[in-house]
Amino acid sequence: MLILPTNASVLEYVRSRFGLITSKLAKLDAERERLLDADGDGVPDAWVDLRGQPRSWKQRRGRPLGTRPITDVKAILVHQAAAVIPADDPRLLSVPAHDWVDLEGLVALLNYATDYMAHAHAANRFTVGLECGCRDSGLIDEEKSFWLSKKEQRRGLTMADLIRPPTPALIDSAIHVAEWRIDRVGELGGEISEVWTHRQGHSSRVGDPGERLYRLVVQHLVAKHGFRPVILATVGTGKAVPDRWSGSANGQRYSWRVA
Ligand SMILES: [Zn+2]
Repeated sequence: MLILPTNASVLEYVRSRFGLITSKLAKLDAERERLLDADGDGVPDAWVDLRGQPRSWKQRRGRPLGTRPITDVKAILVHQAAAVIPADDPRLLSVPAHDWVDLEGLVALLNYATDYMAHAHAANRFTVGLECGCRDSGLIDEEKSFWLSKKEQRRGLTMADLIRPPTPALIDSAIHVAEWRIDRVGELGGEISEVWTHRQGHSSRVGDPGERLYRLVVQHLVAKHGFRPVILATVGTGKAVPDRWSGSANGQRYSWRVA
């Protein structure tokens, strides 16, 4: 039976199996990235560092699909995990992303920037994935934009029962780790100059990362670093950033159900 790691396309999976994602240049960059922290410096003491740690077969979703040259990395991509998991929880070894921040503001580095992760569908290739460990609605105070599992629906649970919006500590740490990545990729000869969302990489992720994280993390980083806004940019089946997140009038609805 072929088990496809979630979020990877069939083509990516096949290429990774035959080693086609990893080039010689990519391997050199990966070695240089590992050497940067080899003396124990370079990572804040309070952060959990899971980069390069082996993942068991059960944790295979958290394994890189390959290695990429640092110049492939062009953007930070912000996710809402829709799961509240502390940064020191071993379950994070199974998470296909580069960074995790929890509600307390604790940070876990999950993988190297040169690690090619299946975190954002068509946007995997050029992004570093930042997962924010909160559970929020796609639009602030909009019940219809809050995702519920079938089980939760059957139990009659609502947004009010389950919502865990990002805390100020989570927001601060998300910005901190994103800026650490921007510096780190720069030190290695790459350049991050955009901030994307998972919504822009796949049609199934309309509420990812949601209005609150968009305004407090994405817009903050773009303004502070003078990045080019990529509000209307999409890859694969992704959708443009809705007007209710960006605050601009591009005629972009949130979804077919909610304007
Ligand atoms: Zn996501």
